[in-house]
Amino acid sequence: RALTQADADGDDRVVDAALRPKSLDEVVGQHRVRDQLGLVLEAARQRGRAPDHVLLSGPPGLGKTTLAMIIANEMSAPLRVTSGPAITHAGDLASILSGINEGDVVFVDEIHRMSRPAEEMLYMAMEDFRVDVVVGKGPGATAIPLDIPPFTLVGATTRAGLLPGPLRDRFGFTAHLDFYEPADLDLIVRRSAGLLGVEITDGGAGRIASRSRGTPRIANRLLRRVRDYAQVRADGVLTDEVAAAALDLYEVDDLGLDRLDRSVIEALCLRFAGGPVGIATLAVAVGEERETVEEVAEPFLVRNGFLVRTPRGRVATPAAWEHLGLTPPRIDPA
Ligand code: ADP
Repeated sequence: RALTQADADGDDRVVDAALRPKSLDEVVGQHRVRDQLGLVLEAARQRGRAPDHVLLSGPPGLGKTTLAMIIANEMSAPLRVTSGPAITHAGDLASILSGINEGDVVFVDEIHRMSRPAEEMLYMAMEDFRVDVVVGKGPGATAIPLDIPPFTLVGATTRAGLLPGPLRDRFGFTAHLDFYEPADLDLIVRRSAGLLGVEITDGGAGRIASRSRGTPRIANRLLRRVRDYAQVRADGVLTDEVAAAALDLYEVDDLGLDRLDRSVIEALCLRFAGGPVGIATLAVAVGEERETVEEVAEPFLVRNGFLVRTPRGRVATPAAWEHLGLTPPRIDPA
């Protein structure tokens, strides 16, 4: 089922939506999560009930939103989408919940950023399918209990550790998404190339996969940039040479580190002598929000052995120094 040429040529968001797997069968990799989730959904279907609430955690771009959409799809239920930062008042949540029908799937992205009062309302909604709607202000305010039909909450977070225990405990199923293996990314790149109707060689797919930072979203994004390059500067075929040249142009290095990843290890090695340095200081040095450094760059750098977290702060590993073409400092055998 290829995209129409107009879709395939369309802007990145259209293409993004088209590349999203629509069912569990289409999901590449993450076998354990897929099997476990498949069982949860099948059991709920057999019982004719809404599945238990699901918490998805993991770095950005690994498929949390995709899985939320798939849960709704597989249950043939409508999906309502919101996000933690959009729920600043308990009333925001109440108005979403009061409008749902039995079996709806409610997706709350970045659920760890929800306000405290909303979080407390959510506990009750998840457990008792009830919310207290506060009417009026000040001493005259009264709470009116409102029943809501059984629904499935799908929460997504980049940081499961930031969720308060009581919230975490109310999810019947929790899945942690980890970075993808190169072989899985290879499959994702080929699948996406097929949907986009572009010709790609084994070498081209392998090259893009190996530089995708373990992340499907990045694999798809790099594929589109390599496709641009192939179209404008080559004959349209995504070969290894074309991919390598395009990725160099876009400053994606051999190991897939992007500009932010590199600036973090560069700051760490060059400005803080390899650390240890606190995350807040490091974030200021690279001119980014602490959350961005912590939730976007760091998991990949840690996972790939460039950075370690210690009680005294972040420390660059010898691999980080070497990746920058520098000699790691000698460590005194103290
Ligand atoms: P998140 O919500 O975790 O940030 P998304 O669900 O938006 O990530 O995924 C980003 C993109 O990566 C999606 O558009 C989808 O095309 C692709 N993707 C994610 N997971 C997979 C997967 N397991 N198989 C194939 N493509 C995937």
